[in-house]
Amino acid sequence: MAVDGTKYDANALCGAPFFPKETLGLAEPKGQAALETAMRTSCQSSLDVCWSIPDWPDWRQRAHDVKAYTIAHLDELLAKFADRLEAKGVKVLWARDAADANAIILDIAKKHQVKTVVKGKSMVSEELELNKAFAMAGISALETDLGEFIVQLTGKRPTHIVTPATHLSAEEVGELFAEKLGVEKTTEHEALTMIARKHLRQKFVSADMGISGINFGIAESGSFCLVENEGNIGLSTTCPKVHVALMGIEKLIPSLDYLPLFLNMLPRMGTGQKLTSYTHIFNGPTEGRTMYVVIVDNGRTRALASPAHRKVLHCIRCGGCMARCPVYQKVGGWAYGWVYPGPLGIVLTPQLLGYKTAGKLPFASSLCGACSQICPVKIDLAHQVVRSRAESIATAGSPARSCAERLLWWAFAWGMQSRWRYNLMMLAVKLGIRVAPALPIHPWLMGRWTRGRALPVPPKEGNFARWWKANHK
Ligand code: SF4
Repeated sequence: MAVDGTKYDANALCGAPFFPKETLGLAEPKGQAALETAMRTSCQSSLDVCWSIPDWPDWRQRAHDVKAYTIAHLDELLAKFADRLEAKGVKVLWARDAADANAIILDIAKKHQVKTVVKGKSMVSEELELNKAFAMAGISALETDLGEFIVQLTGKRPTHIVTPATHLSAEEVGELFAEKLGVEKTTEHEALTMIARKHLRQKFVSADMGISGINFGIAESGSFCLVENEGNIGLSTTCPKVHVALMGIEKLIPSLDYLPLFLNMLPRMGTGQKLTSYTHIFNGPTEGRTMYVVIVDNGRTRALASPAHRKVLHCIRCGGCMARCPVYQKVGGWAYGWVYPGPLGIVLTPQLLGYKTAGKLPFASSLCGACSQICPVKIDLAHQVVRSRAESIATAGSPARSCAERLLWWAFAWGMQSRWRYNLMMLAVKLGIRVAPALPIHPWLMGRWTRGRALPVPPKEGNFARWWKANHK
């Protein structure tokens, strides 16, 4: 609860349904085509720039080892990070969940009489739905990353964690700017950027508070690092008198020695760049300014406690697994219902929100394994997806634990235990497919399971064994 008595319900703030429409991406062909093209281009450029490094596989292993060490010593490293930040005059606050974090940030805002906020891109703030919390408290919060700014104007969620407006074409952004900002419509990329720049400049100067995320917290030195390409994070964190940086508990590295490795890997995989345009390292507040670091759990300790899922905390949010995921390319980011889409989302979200809320997500995978192959910190995402499916089915109240599905799998397991059972099962399947069109449940079945799929017709020759017998004497 905030100091003014406002209650923040994390579930209400974050409560979008998962897979509101399974065919969401397909239902919006323009956005889906833009997304697919952008992801293909992004894949190619990042692969070129990553695999041009002969030692890339060694870099991946090293990054994996550093993150594994960090996660294994997280308690000790977090305490060191917080102590050293405080010694430099930074106020460190700890938040158990989204409601707690929002209440802490609103308390800070109240203390400093904040009316306007400029925000650099922060996935943790998306988790908290911080903009909604600010709006409820009468504070105006403006996203300043170009993609986030565009998405904020649309009133929808980002579709990607690195490139939030990747589903929109220049034409659509031109229309949006004309409608919302009252400017003349243009489709020129540079002109669009200049419109956003002009709109945002004055806001940086007049804002009372700047919010940012943290890409890497450095435990040994008590400093933190932020990377960006547009300069908006530099302005958001230095123009206002108050800077609040939000960090998930896992975003640490042990010391500055490891920072160059991650600064090299993150942009290569994320945007196909060798380095980002700007790298900021913060070492405490400058004179006359106040700096806060809010360290957020929000379900991460649940993943930490699970030997099967601890590795998902290695993630450096590069977005590489999304660009390569065939499911993500088709359905887009919104279909995942929350902040993290793609292979990362289907493993991480159930850990953060629980299987009762997000139990369907692990099933949004073809298990092709492209994500595991590409992940710069070598997270075994495909294995974790399989494990998450089992956990989802075993969790009471999970939407994946439907009676019909459990019955189906029980029948399948029974049928696979001997030849005669298998033959009987096949006979039942064949009969079922033939009689299904005549059954009263057929329209319901056709409307759901067969949406986008054709019900296969069994071949006249019978099953494979019979065909083999007839054709291979
Ligand atoms: S899981 Fe790996 S590939 Fe996906 S966003 Fe995280 S670090 Fe990048």
